[in-house]
Amino acid sequence: MRLFECGTLVPGCTWHTRADEDAEVVRRAVEHMKSAHGETTIRETMVDNIKARIRDEATAA
Ligand SMILES: [Zn+2]
Repeated sequence: MRLFECGTLVPGCTWHTRADEDAEVVRRAVEHMKSAHGETTIRETMVDNIKARIRDEATAA
């Protein structure tokens, strides 16, 4: 699984998401940025920032 934690981009935010594919993680993260952080326009740099912070999550807990 691929994991994105919003706190790596927005300090203090505890929201996170995980999905099988980066594209899905990015899609969810963008939706979160809009709904939770008031971002009306998602810039390419923000997408890059999200992608750069997606990391592998070990399947074994
Ligand atoms: Zn957030």
